[in-house]
Amino acid sequence: MRQAMANAEVGDDVLDGDPTTRRLEAEVAERLGKESALFFPSGSMANQSAVWVHSRPGTELLCDAEAHVYHWEIAAVAGLCGVQSRLVKPSSGTVMRADDLRAALRLPSIHAPEPSLVCLENTHNGAGGAVTPLAELRALSDVAREAGLPVHLDGARLWNASVASGTSLASFADCADTVMVSFSKGLGAPVGACLAGPAHFITQAHRARKRFGGGMRQSGVLAAAALHALEHHFDRLADDHAAARVFADAVDSAGGARVVSPDTNIVMIDLPAPRAAQVVASAADQGVRLSMWHASRVRAVMHLDASMAMVEEAGRRVARILESEFR
Ligand SMILES: *Cc1c(COP(=O)(O)O)cnc(C)c1O
Repeated sequence: MRQAMANAEVGDDVLDGDPTTRRLEAEVAERLGKESALFFPSGSMANQSAVWVHSRPGTELLCDAEAHVYHWEIAAVAGLCGVQSRLVKPSSGTVMRADDLRAALRLPSIHAPEPSLVCLENTHNGAGGAVTPLAELRALSDVAREAGLPVHLDGARLWNASVASGTSLASFADCADTVMVSFSKGLGAPVGACLAGPAHFITQAHRARKRFGGGMRQSGVLAAAALHALEHHFDRLADDHAAARVFADAVDSAGGARVVSPDTNIVMIDLPAPRAAQVVASAADQGVRLSMWHASRVRAVMHLDASMAMVEEAGRRVARILESEFR
């Protein structure tokens, strides 16, 4: 990847374009079956640019409470876009389903904000990398479209959803007007995301990217990393999914902790008591990096720098820590 970055042909993407970035954007648009795509420095900026173009200030978007766009983007929906988030309550689990969205739609009223957008996420980070299957994603999209609402899909990990389910990226992307995909998660590139959609939308998103300070000049060095990742690290996401199952089996029930059965590369561990900080600190002492999700939940993410042998060892260490912490 470093070699590909060093060898990348570059131009000035703020002025008249960068050839490697153009190639990446064309490749992503093609894979997602969309007309056009635009390279961004981050998934958050791509999400926010999508919201900015889809929505007017004073309207509201609908998403679930753990959606990245609401939960992990420092209130940018409100701060940058002037848009309110309305949280759809899932009838079970973390991810909203079509019936939940239908129930959340309000009758038009002069007293209520107009809805402007539905945001979906696949895989869903907060739900432990859960895949929303194609039929369910279509059903969600149908509810939105029947209500006249555009759909933005936060597909930071759409790659994982596709590899895990065997559903093509384009079939998932067809459920949404615009789609964000990230290169810096499981694909292992240092930087970057793309926003894909209709050409006229992407022209507006280019304005949003500029406004949010995301213009990049010799961006080809970064696009080359993303192209390398797509070519070499896509199919191997299946290895991360297999590793997640091995890790989950190793830690499930240790000390009374329970894992959320992983669909993809994320393992959420629910602790029997709110001592996530202690568990994360003990794991770090033992050379295993976990993140604290909330006081009684920690997250483990499998990735291309962790071999199966390392994951097995990490599972043994974390299981021992859980057993001693919650004895
Ligand atoms: C990481 C992530 C983002 C944001 O991407 P950044 O490049 O970190 O800004 C958005 N959505 C989901 C689901 C993510 O996991």
